[in-house]
Amino acid sequence: MMETLDHWIGGVPVTPAGGEYLPVTDPATGRTVRRVARGGVADVDAAVHAAVQATANWLAVPALGRGRLLVELARAMRADATTLAALESSETGKPEQVALAEVENSATYFEFYGGLVGMPAGETLDVAPDQHVFTIREPFGVIGVITPWNLPLNQSARACAPALAAGNTVVLKPSENTSASSVRLAQLATEVGFPAGAFTVVLGTGAEAGAAVVHHRDIAKVAFTGSVPTGQVIAGIAADRVIPVTLELGGKSANIVFSDADLDAAIAGAVQGFTANAGQVCSAGTRLLVQRDVHDEVVSRLVDAVARIRVGHDMGPLVTREQFRKVQEYFKIAESEGARVETGGTVSDFAAESGGFYIDPTVYSGVDNAMRIAREEIFGPVLVVIPFDTEADAVAIANDSDYGLVAGVWTRDISRGLTVSGRLRTGQVFVNTWSTGSVQTPFGGWKNSGYGREKGVEALHHYGQIKCVTVKLDSARL
Ligand code: NAD
Repeated sequence: MMETLDHWIGGVPVTPAGGEYLPVTDPATGRTVRRVARGGVADVDAAVHAAVQATANWLAVPALGRGRLLVELARAMRADATTLAALESSETGKPEQVALAEVENSATYFEFYGGLVGMPAGETLDVAPDQHVFTIREPFGVIGVITPWNLPLNQSARACAPALAAGNTVVLKPSENTSASSVRLAQLATEVGFPAGAFTVVLGTGAEAGAAVVHHRDIAKVAFTGSVPTGQVIAGIAADRVIPVTLELGGKSANIVFSDADLDAAIAGAVQGFTANAGQVCSAGTRLLVQRDVHDEVVSRLVDAVARIRVGHDMGPLVTREQFRKVQEYFKIAESEGARVETGGTVSDFAAESGGFYIDPTVYSGVDNAMRIAREEIFGPVLVVIPFDTEADAVAIANDSDYGLVAGVWTRDISRGLTVSGRLRTGQVFVNTWSTGSVQTPFGGWKNSGYGREKGVEALHHYGQIKCVTVKLDSARL
């Protein structure tokens, strides 16, 4: 019989109120791998109720104790890495080594924020000698966390760890395509001793379970990671309810290669930037801006480097059939726009062999920044190469985008690296390297890439609010 997966509410699995389940496809094979609970208003109500009930129990644990539980959860994730990675792979098709790296990265969030519980602390303010004025940072209550399908465990951990560290409880609604690793995470939290209900997961579609989370009157704040249109809908509801929301949305990030750069490093960074997770990364470097005098050399070396990627082994499939179709649609758009295919532009041979949603890594040259393939987020392993002449041109092209998540600059001139970084309208810049950063580095966007910041100490500011207390003293303190 097909495996089913239930909500995780109040520290136990809970079947959906409507009794319905949704099929989940393994994108490596195209076959249904399990069925997951289809939650709606009643399920979300039960989840939020459990999270509200848990708030007092969670805050009754002294700060150091809460921190220890977060660190314990990181330890449990590492001990459970094989299972977590297998669940993640079964719904995303990621190669095992990639899924294991994601588990390790996800564990670092609980470790990092576990060590920061109680921080940043409040302050004492010198207002008047007969007043004692201080601030305390208080949790919101229940945070609704809504996450996408590309790095499911990572994104759930990235939002839930700081929310919990700041003293909130969470109701997590993962993508209906990739629920399993998030449920396992909540189960591990229960096993290491989190109070029942502190870490709650409700499953289902965005239109049903997701919308019910955002509308629920006891959800005090929403942390959303996903697409721009969904982010706009959620921000609209949050505006009506006058609750805060952080939005981590899409990107079309520019990676700028100057001719004085270490081209070996720049090419390796460019390849990693658009092929990691098969390009399904919000911060993927999908626009490669190359100074004209090294353009042809960079393109030909890129093609060589891409040829070494073994699809199905080094690079997984696209996560959904819909995404698989969407990327193929962009191949047609690229052709109609007159871009030159340097490599790829095709469904991988491995797709026919495996039944999975595999695409060949694709590089287009002859691209103008006005083309749709240069402006729209494709969310697949597709790179567009755009030539530029001067530093000012590079900055102008990079900033001529609806998005502003990250950017890369490759140059041996550190002064130029810093001035260009200053001019880029993005939340993060990498100079002579390309990555998604570490748990310590604040992450978030400008423009359509969203607002608010995740990761680092910075994220904690989004999960608590300041109360200022003024006490009138009987006489002057000094
Ligand atoms: P999506 O917006 O379709 O879905 C994201 C989540 O929102 C899912 O859990 C979905 O069920 C839920 N949802 C959908 N409609 C909803 C509604 N009306 N109300 C409440 N919840 C709703 O995004 P996706 O297709 O799963 O993910 C891909 C997108 O996510 C890409 O655009 C990508 O750039 C973005 N993303 C951004 C970041 C980042 O940190 N900036 C990270 C990863 C992915």
